Amino acid sequence: MLPELDLAAPGKTIHDLGPIAGALDGVKGDSLCCINNGEGPSVLLLGGIHGDEYEAQIVLRRLAERLTAADVTGRVLIVPSINFPASEKGKRLSPFDGQNMNRCFPGKIDGTPTERLCAFVTQHLFPAVDLLIDVHAGGSDVLVVPMVFGFATGKSKVDDARLRLLMEAWGYRFVQHVDGIDETACGAAKLADLASIEVEGGGGRMKTAELEIMEAGILRALAAFGAIKPQLAPLPFSGVHFSAGPEGQYLAPYPALVEHRVALGDEVAKGQIVARLHPAVAGTASAEDILAPMPGYVLRQTEHAFVAKGQLIGNIGTPL
Ligand SMILES: [Zn+2]
Repeated sequence: MLPELDLAAPGKTIHDLGPIAGALDGVKGDSLCCINNGEGPSVLLLGGIHGDEYEAQIVLRRLAERLTAADVTGRVLIVPSINFPASEKGKRLSPFDGQNMNRCFPGKIDGTPTERLCAFVTQHLFPAVDLLIDVHAGGSDVLVVPMVFGFATGKSKVDDARLRLLMEAWGYRFVQHVDGIDETACGAAKLADLASIEVEGGGGRMKTAELEIMEAGILRALAAFGAIKPQLAPLPFSGVHFSAGPEGQYLAPYPALVEHRVALGDEVAKGQIVARLHPAVAGTASAEDILAPMPGYVLRQTEHAFVAKGQLIGNIGTPL
């Protein structure tokens, strides 16, 4: 698997990742951008684990092209579209094996294309860095507020206190605290005692402002970590640390048409009307209100007008 890969090569080097997945019909592959400039913090930026989360991939591709060795004060590794078999086909999951990449870590060297890409990340890239930044977005189905969450361990080079400061350095309003899942990239990093931060924000419609927020957050965080020279003024944190669990979700009780009655990021009271469900069948126009199951902030909303029974309409996070 890429035996010539030298992640310590000085300056900026580009490596083709296509061979890891093998020959796949109509797929070109993605590149790993590796930038080294002296001793300093090292970071891996991973995008596109879910192939249809394109904001992350655009932002990371722009950074890989723009950042030079002179900008870097340590090591920066960037893979804009690690799940390129999915993203090149406009899909969330790889159409070649149907697997959810963020449930396939740590992967298998001799596994499916998705498992091989995961194994490459955990075996070759994790050992080369002090921090993983895994950049996601809402994808085709949901719109999500810009937010970050992260994990450190007693043995990771970045400890909990530093991780908290790094998450606040994004300049986002929302910092989430969650239990990890072992089979995600961040979960696998935690098991390898590598600190990680997952980034969320945006949805399926690729808005300019969301791309700018995502890029600015990453630039501020990389500078706060000391991996690049500052490119933007730091923003003092004035946001909210919160937790979000299944109790904050509101789901469609039956197939219906959703009218959101609050905006993404709004603070809501328990029992407040957050959505109105209109009938999806002819013959009646009477709508039903959906009430907030708990107080907090609206973090996600479905992008779809039509929701099936049990489908997520939105979710609420509680300040800590
Ligand atoms: Zn994702």
